Amino acid sequence: MKQAVYPGSFDPVTYGHLDIITRASALFDGLIVAVANNPLKTPTFSLEDRKKYLEEVTKDMPNVQVMAFSSLLVDFLKEINVNIVVRGLRAVTDFEMEFQMALVNKNLLERMETVFLVTRTEYSFLSSSIIKEVAAFGGEVSDFVPPIVEEGLMRKFRQRT
Ligand code: ADP
Repeated sequence: MKQAVYPGSFDPVTYGHLDIITRASALFDGLIVAVANNPLKTPTFSLEDRKKYLEEVTKDMPNVQVMAFSSLLVDFLKEINVNIVVRGLRAVTDFEMEFQMALVNKNLLERMETVFLVTRTEYSFLSSSIIKEVAAFGGEVSDFVPPIVEEGLMRKFRQRT
C-alpha cells in the first residue's frame, strides 16, 4: 500500500490545501495529513482546532487520515513508516524554501521522497495568512475556506473588531 504524508501548519486549512489533499488522495492509497505542532511558531488556531477543521473537511475521504506531530518530520515518517511527502507549490516564491526543505529532509532520511503538486490557478494566491488578514479586517472569506473554518475565523476575530 502506497502511503504519503502531507505535512503543514494548516493554520487554518484553506481550499488551496483541500485541493492538494483531494488530488494527493487520488494518487496514493492512503494520505496522512500531518498537522505540525511547532514550538518555534505561534499559530492563530490551537492544534486541536486545526486538526478538528481538517477532520471535518476530509470526513468524506475514506483514505485520508489526520494526525498531529511534534517531532522532526523525518522522525515522524520513521515512526509511521512512510517515505513519501507531498507539498504544494503556489509560485516561484514557494520554490526556494520547499527545495531547501526537501534537500535537508533527504539528507536526514535518504529513503524519503518529496512530491510537489502545483496549485490550481484559482488558488495560487491563497495562503492561511492572507485569509487571516482578510478575516481580521472583516472581509468575506467564504470563497477561500470551508464553512467550518469561516465560522472559526469569525469567532476568533470578532472579539478584536
Ligand atoms: P507550512 O507552514 O508547513 O508551509 P502551510 O499550512 O502553510 O504549512 O502549507 C502546507 C503546504 O501546503 C505547503 O507545501 C504549501 O506550499 C501548500 N499550500 C498552501 N496553500 C496552498 C495553495 N493555495 N495551493 C497549493 N498549495 C498550497
